[in-house]
Amino acid sequence: MKKLVTIALTGTVLAGGVFADIPLVQAAGNGPDYQGHETINTSILHTYSEMVDFLKKQEKKQSNMELEVIGETVKGRDIHLVKYMQNPANPTILYITQQHGDEALTTEGSLDFIKQLGTGKSKGLLDEVNILIIPMYNADGAMGDVNYELENYAASGDRHLTRLNAKGIDLNRDHDAKTQPETQALHNNVLEKYDIDYMIDLHHQGAQWVKDGKYVSGAIFPSHPDHTDPEVLQGSKQLGAVVYDAIEPKGWGHLANYAGKGSAYDNGISVYGLAHDYDISTLLLEIRGTADNANDFEVLGQKSNGYLTKQAVIAMDATARAIADGTINEKEISFWDDLPVQEERPY
Ligand SMILES: [Zn+2]
Repeated sequence: MKKLVTIALTGTVLAGGVFADIPLVQAAGNGPDYQGHETINTSILHTYSEMVDFLKKQEKKQSNMELEVIGETVKGRDIHLVKYMQNPANPTILYITQQHGDEALTTEGSLDFIKQLGTGKSKGLLDEVNILIIPMYNADGAMGDVNYELENYAASGDRHLTRLNAKGIDLNRDHDAKTQPETQALHNNVLEKYDIDYMIDLHHQGAQWVKDGKYVSGAIFPSHPDHTDPEVLQGSKQLGAVVYDAIEPKGWGHLANYAGKGSAYDNGISVYGLAHDYDISTLLLEIRGTADNANDFEVLGQKSNGYLTKQAVIAMDATARAIADGTINEKEISFWDDLPVQEERPY
């Protein structure tokens, strides 16, 4: 497949004007597709050890930040919890990134957000809200260090990124059974330990989803109405409202309702299980396109990385602020009834 990509690009250059009218970049405002049209390289993403170095440096710089190891992955990588907990009486939000190892810009966004929390831009924020962040939760999948072969993956670079953990288990289906060390670390040392009010689980979805005929920048999804306390569900939908209002007005912002793909109830999925088991107001945020995959339609070219990473930062920043100043409690949730469910654009 790599060869085909090279030939196609070379062909374009050699043929000059012949292909000039064929747009390789689709969907203005929504970023270019991959579809074999560009090289994507995993070397531009933080490796696990680069991330840990970054976190340790930030901990030294930021007096409010505390770095805690909550457990280990299957392959023995420390799982880190970034804690900003000034006052336990304040409301608390948890952000989890990269439960699926190939969904990497969620982690890139969380590192930008962590950096921002140490600057004047976030002045006063941490006096009013507690923030917990687990970046690169599935570190083994993120590093492609797994007990199975990764064949025909799209990205170049010295590693592949893959969805499942090292044993081939989907961590985001394991929150009920809790069979994996990653899941046990999260539940025993974070969810059982802290009084968490809100949670955003940051993911990526395939690149093929559209709303109103345009590729989405992402999709949002609240907890399940039949398995969630009504007040918790209200908070879940308000969390989604904050994200929607912060993202949608951006030139590139185009959010859909994820429902339809994820509506079947499964307590092993964090957006459902954590709301049900811990009364946490949860939100699933699915950002467009994965960083690597064996399916081309899942992958999005790295030219979109800038705004997609920003989308993750904005979602985290806006929700932390709305919880800190209490404006989240005034958010209307009726927009959910009108938010179109995304549709799949066939390749
Ligand atoms: Zn995912």
